[in-house]
Amino acid sequence: MQILTTPRAMQDAALTLRAAGRRIGVVPTMGFLHEGHASLIRLARARADVVIVTLFVNPAQFGPNEDLSRYPRDFERDRALCEAEGADILFAPGADSVYAADASVWIDEDRLSRGLCGASRPGHFRGVCTVVAKLFNLTQPHVAVFGEKDAQQLRILRRMVRDLDIPVEVVAGPTVRETDGLAMSSRNAYLSPEERLQATCLRRALDAAASRLAAGERSAAALRAAMAEVIAGAPLARADYIEIVDDETLEPVTLIGRPALAAMAVFVGRTRLIDNAVLRP
Ligand code: AMP
Repeated sequence: MQILTTPRAMQDAALTLRAAGRRIGVVPTMGFLHEGHASLIRLARARADVVIVTLFVNPAQFGPNEDLSRYPRDFERDRALCEAEGADILFAPGADSVYAADASVWIDEDRLSRGLCGASRPGHFRGVCTVVAKLFNLTQPHVAVFGEKDAQQLRILRRMVRDLDIPVEVVAGPTVRETDGLAMSSRNAYLSPEERLQATCLRRALDAAASRLAAGERSAAALRAAMAEVIAGAPLARADYIEIVDDETLEPVTLIGRPALAAMAVFVGRTRLIDNAVLRP
């Protein structure tokens, strides 16, 4: 596996691979990799000749009071995981090499980004869209793999690819979970043992909504109340938002008549965790 650390070296390598007719798959990540990331690398492996994993903790998607400086990092472990999963290139650019000091062009998606995490993290998706577009230009992928874990991000990136005519196929991977249901996340490393136990409330809340729906409940308000009740039962947890939105438009719904997305962000202690599930009537 090749390790590349500058945008220039990455783009040169990608253009050479493209010219040689190789099919390129990319898996963008912020590192501190886990089995969720590994599953995406395997999806890319099955769809491309050359798999590029990018590892970049993107400052542009963190707000001023968020966890950029303490975001967990372990380059050696990440390198070993990428190698074991059969990645061909690990692109790990230095913090200062990706954005020009006076960078002034950004990509703003202004519909799907309004609610959910977009509402509680102003500017977050602008940072995500911009860095992903840059990573596409640097890695020249035919296919890019993202996780359903970040459901809003996935839908926004699909919209960006559509609206900007970017010639990339976006593939989604299902959320990989711990055995007790907690969605794997690099941020789970922040949790104390007691917080880690209570963090299962996110998945239990989603399950509560799904079982109410299966029992015939169609009211989004009732399903949200069922979710909120589960979160309230975990003393270390505090909901940032609990929403049920249309799975395509991400607009709030009142009745579940078509596929809807139950999405939530919950602080467990000081750690903000997200999870979601698609609800089908
Ligand atoms: P991150 O490193 O957290 O920015 O995530 C990089 C990619 O991995 C994104 O496409 C995420 O949606 C995806 N991802 C993160 N956690 C999981 C998970 N538990 N299962 C599947 N994909 C995930």
